Amino acid sequence: MSEPINIATEASTVTEHTPAEAPTGQVVRNSALIIVDVQPDFMPGGALACAEGGAILPELAQLLAADRFAHVVATQDWHPPGHISFASTHHKVPFEALELYGHHQTLWPDHCIQNSEGAALHPSLDWRRVDAIIRKGTDARIDSYSAFRNNIGPDGQRPSTGLAGWLHERGVESVYICGLARDVCVLWTAEDAAAAGFRTHVLWSLTRPVTFDTDEATRSTLERLGIAIVDTASL
Ligand SMILES: [Zn+2]
Repeated sequence: MSEPINIATEASTVTEHTPAEAPTGQVVRNSALIIVDVQPDFMPGGALACAEGGAILPELAQLLAADRFAHVVATQDWHPPGHISFASTHHKVPFEALELYGHHQTLWPDHCIQNSEGAALHPSLDWRRVDAIIRKGTDARIDSYSAFRNNIGPDGQRPSTGLAGWLHERGVESVYICGLARDVCVLWTAEDAAAAGFRTHVLWSLTRPVTFDTDEATRSTLERLGIAIVDTASL
C-alpha cells in the first residue's frame, strides 16, 4: 500500500491504489462499491462489535472477487487515543450520550485506535481490489461516521472527506454501500451519498447493525430518502 494522500481535509485521508487486475465480470457501469468499516473491532469479539458482523465476510469476499464495480472504495475508522467519541475520554460509560458542539453524541468503547490490530482492514478480505481507502475519525476533536463528511465539528461544520469529488471526477453516478454498522456509519454514508447526488443503494445483506432494534428505523429512513435497499442478486 502507498502512503495515504490527503486530498481534501485534515480530518480524513484517501489512499489510491492500482486495481489488482482488469474486471472479468459484467461491471455495473458508472458505479462504485463503498465498503464501510470492515475492521476487526466491529466484529464479534471486537471492541465495538456489531451483531453478526462477521456474517457479511463470505458474501463480501465473493462480491469483491467478481469485480462488478468500476471503482471500489473502503473506509477505515482510524482514531487517535483519547478520541472525543470514546466514553473513556469523558470518564463515562460506553453507549451513554452527551451533547457535543450542540449535537447528540453517542459515546463508544475505545475502538479502531490507529495502527492497532482492531483497526486493520479485515485480514480475511483481498483489499488489493480497492481503489481508494478513506481513513476517518483521525481528528481527535471530531467523530466521523460517513464516508463523505465528518460529524459536526467545533466550528459547527461537517468537513468533507473529499470522496464525493473523487467519485464525481471518475464519472461515478451510482454507489452501492455495504459494511458496518448498518445503523450508524452505513446509514450516514448512504444519507450523504444521496445528498451528494449519487443514485444510492444499500446492500442490506452485506451490512449488520450495532443492534437489530434499529433496523425498522434504518429502513424507514432509507426509504424516505429514496435510497434503494437491494441485495447482491439484483446487481
Ligand atoms: Zn469510530
